Amino acid sequence: MNYHKFDVVIVGAGGAGLMSAMQLAHNSSIAVISKLYPTRSHTGAAQGGVAAALGNQEEDNWKWHMFDTVKGGDYLVDQDAAAILTREAIDAVYELEHWGLPFNRTEDGKIDQRRFGGHSRNFGEGPVRRSCYAADRTGHMILQTMYQQSVKNQVRFFNEYMMLDLLINDGQACGVVALCLRDGSIHTFHAKAIVLATGGYGRAWRITSNALACTGDGMAVAYRRGIPLEDMEMYQFHPTGLYKVGILLSEAARGEGAYLLNSEGERFCVRYAPTMEELAPRDMVSRFIYDEIAAGRGIDGKDYVYLSVAHLGKEKIDAKLPDITDFARNYLGVEPYYEPVPIQPTAHYAMGGIPTDIEGRVVVDEHNTVLPGLYAAGEVACVSVHGANRLGTNSLVDLIVFGRRAGKHIAAKWLPEADFAPLPNAPDAFATEMVESLLARGKNGANGKNSQNGKGTGETQEALRADLRDSMMENVGVVRDEQRLTAQLARVVELKQRWRNLRLMDTSRTFNTELMEVVELGNLIECAEATVAGALARKESRGAHYRTDYPKRDDVNFLKHTLAYRTEHVGEPELRYKPVVITEFEPKERKY
Ligand SMILES: Cc1cc2nc3c(=O)[nH]c(=O)nc-3n(C[C@H](O)[C@H](O)[C@H](O)COP(=O)(O)OP(=O)(O)OC[C@H]3O[C@@H](n4cnc5c(N)ncnc54)[C@H](O)[C@@H]3O)c2cc1C
Repeated sequence: MNYHKFDVVIVGAGGAGLMSAMQLAHNSSIAVISKLYPTRSHTGAAQGGVAAALGNQEEDNWKWHMFDTVKGGDYLVDQDAAAILTREAIDAVYELEHWGLPFNRTEDGKIDQRRFGGHSRNFGEGPVRRSCYAADRTGHMILQTMYQQSVKNQVRFFNEYMMLDLLINDGQACGVVALCLRDGSIHTFHAKAIVLATGGYGRAWRITSNALACTGDGMAVAYRRGIPLEDMEMYQFHPTGLYKVGILLSEAARGEGAYLLNSEGERFCVRYAPTMEELAPRDMVSRFIYDEIAAGRGIDGKDYVYLSVAHLGKEKIDAKLPDITDFARNYLGVEPYYEPVPIQPTAHYAMGGIPTDIEGRVVVDEHNTVLPGLYAAGEVACVSVHGANRLGTNSLVDLIVFGRRAGKHIAAKWLPEADFAPLPNAPDAFATEMVESLLARGKNGANGKNSQNGKGTGETQEALRADLRDSMMENVGVVRDEQRLTAQLARVVELKQRWRNLRLMDTSRTFNTELMEVVELGNLIECAEATVAGALARKESRGAHYRTDYPKRDDVNFLKHTLAYRTEHVGEPELRYKPVVITEFEPKERKY
């Protein structure tokens, strides 16, 4: 057995994982495991910025930021967590600055700030400049800065190691099992604390802004080990993905003054949201687009509308929005200096995930019982600061604030008192069996019989992947209803069955990316199960979860978090609920 022992193992080298690592690097032995080379993590694709009420451009206040976060999340936000997020955002951003992050600057040398959706002054009076940014490459800069710091601080990286399993013994998390992609070997990591920072699962949908690696691995691994997933039905569609491609055109464009136009050349957002216009929250703008298309005002009667930046002028476009305008040129052949860009909503962000408390500790039930030794941070986690809908630029803050809190809690509170829990017997059994049976299926076929060409029988992953992504797009998209969700749950059951019979074309152990993709596909299906089951049971509309058959928010019955537990019955997770923490802002109707 390949055995490694560290005080702390962090899974994921995006913003959340690296931020945790930075808190621990000096005093403990830590390892960061990542299936990608760290700087390829999806955090590097974040464009628009990171929110913090610095007040560098105009008056601002973290309380206003907290209010916007709670209201933007349609009141499903835990307000104790939102207070921490918005207050500590300020320090966290300065910390990044001191590590060398090259933010855009104001004339007098302070960090520049720009507008973003749902961020307002004085509890909703009008837009405010709160997003700190580095052109439209903020995430790239964050990731590079933190990776440099991690290397400088001698963090030990296991790159291109893919976590397959989480180990829990005697009620304490004690390690993870990972596949080394280079040679196919299985490795057991024994630790006192584990941080899951594996990001989101946008690849479950056909049109998505998410990178190929965003396949919900951390969520699925935890779910299989009995940990619930919280509020998975709350999945955000970002309004402006490139038509048919899904690649994101950041809200920064609208923050800088871009318009959304329908087939009549009308700025339709002004009609729906007179105060915030194009800068209403994402769930709403996505629905405005949906409604325009449904009313026949999509461009040429098709399922897209226009994002127009031309009126901003070449100079501003080049200075503030260079990357996203290049995407439009390269992928659609449109010149944004003169032409409007076709866009449609794109699957973007998981508000839900592995439930944690405000220290980043994973909690496993409606009483917030802590699972000792296990932490989660970033998009994989649900604290819950985003509730039913995340505001733009609030994810990067979440990574740095709660990644930091998790790391600090481990260093100050957990490591001084914790010991290594013993590993369970045969700790790598589950992972080894998964890999060996997949590879054997390739050679022998799904049903174990040798086929004539030696490549086995049964279907390969492509069709299954397409079926998952197409059906999620159709049935669990910007709008949902009973019929579509019921159909999708049946589809998930079928997909799980078909996954078991998949066969591989590549049975080698050296960089077997097909093996990796099949495991990822299995993880996406697990995430889809929790998402659909939660959505079916939530008979209301709130934030990103909009049901045409229950179009109103229902605080009497559904002002609560969903917890989905995997069961032996495929397609039938057990659903439990836990209350939302409300400290200051009572739920009100959302108007923008
Ligand atoms: C195109 C785009 C633009 C965005 N723009 C913004 C923005 O401007 N502002 C904002 O606030 N938010 C933005 N977001 C959201 C934000 O970027 C993400 O939510 C955030 O970066 C997620 O960070 P993370 O650290 O949780 O995970 P990631 O950055 O996704 O990193 C996940 C890490 O986990 C590792 N990993 C995953 N599975 C495994 C496994 N099985 N084994 C080992 N390692 C594994 C990966 O290798 C990777 O290192 C954007 C998102 C996208 C997709």
